[in-house]
Amino acid sequence: MRAWEKNIRRVDPYVPGEQPSGEKLIKLNTNENPYPPAPGVERALREMDYGRLRKYPDPAASVLTGCLAGYYGVGEDQVFVGVGSDDVLAMAFLAFFNSPKPILFPDVSYSFYKVWANLFGIPYEMPALDQEFRICPPDYYKENGGVVFPNPNAPTGLLLGLGEVEDIIRHNQDVVVVVDEAYIDFGGRSALALLNRYENLLVVQTFSKARSMAGLRIGFAIGNPRLIRALNDVKYSYNSYTMNMPSLVLGVESVKEERYFRDTVAKIVKTREQAKKRLCALGFTFPDSMSNFIFARHEKAAAPKLFEALKSRQIYVRYFAQPRLENYLRITVGTDEEMEELYHFLEGYLAY
Ligand code: PMP
Repeated sequence: MRAWEKNIRRVDPYVPGEQPSGEKLIKLNTNENPYPPAPGVERALREMDYGRLRKYPDPAASVLTGCLAGYYGVGEDQVFVGVGSDDVLAMAFLAFFNSPKPILFPDVSYSFYKVWANLFGIPYEMPALDQEFRICPPDYYKENGGVVFPNPNAPTGLLLGLGEVEDIIRHNQDVVVVVDEAYIDFGGRSALALLNRYENLLVVQTFSKARSMAGLRIGFAIGNPRLIRALNDVKYSYNSYTMNMPSLVLGVESVKEERYFRDTVAKIVKTREQAKKRLCALGFTFPDSMSNFIFARHEKAAAPKLFEALKSRQIYVRYFAQPRLENYLRITVGTDEEMEELYHFLEGYLAY
């Protein structure tokens, strides 16, 4: 090792799902939306004033924060936007988790939490999910430096009811509680309903899933103005212009099209419910997902082998080589046609 290499930060990075290229493939591995963004987004993209790219974007991202504030019925000073919810969550870790006490998040959860905690030197504990992969609220009643969990959880897809989410927040009023609602639009009740009661609650959502805009990287947080100010202070201490101009403009267009949003979500939910029946009939078992993916296992088919077999047929799903998860595949809900191809392949595969 050279002398200068001794000073390099050693990190164990998050590993994103593959982004294979090709026309024919069926991509069910990163929980993207199989439908395009709202038509108004395409229109605005075509009509975009390229000349504006010469200038820096608005550092406060006001058009988008204002638009989200109106949509969710909160003050403009209650909204923070970032480069996907990953950026927003990373800022939240930096801003709020500064206690010597460990932060808490589930052992089976979004694997980025551990990466950020390690990167930022934040101590953490990971209470185990129960046998059925459920989050147990009482595990979060002990002293801690902050709490973060996804709802619905990933990669299980299981939803905590609003009452249980509130139990966790009520027991943790001396720390910030971050509820990561990347998948909430697919069936859950948002913790936004609790904002008026808990000034330490931060709700984080994204345009990547229900709004079909993973490629634009838009995420946001809603909470008490003091939390939002702290997030902005961290942002302005790091990079003033996280949000690019096209994302700001196109994000607003997406929010305007409520009808399209509702219809697209309804289609995915319908396909998901159908997928539960079809996968069950094929002998798969899975937690009852309220997200846009299903975390499934099969008694007679080892997940790593099935994963490879699917991939060789250009069907991409996600496999996690981790204790407790090594027999599961996370399958994103695609279009009905894509799912039919998946079932067709599985029928053949399981017949042998
Ligand atoms: N939270 C959870 C639970 C996720 O699964 C994801 C998607 N990888 C994210 C946050 C981040 O999504 P994005 O940065 O695209 O908003």
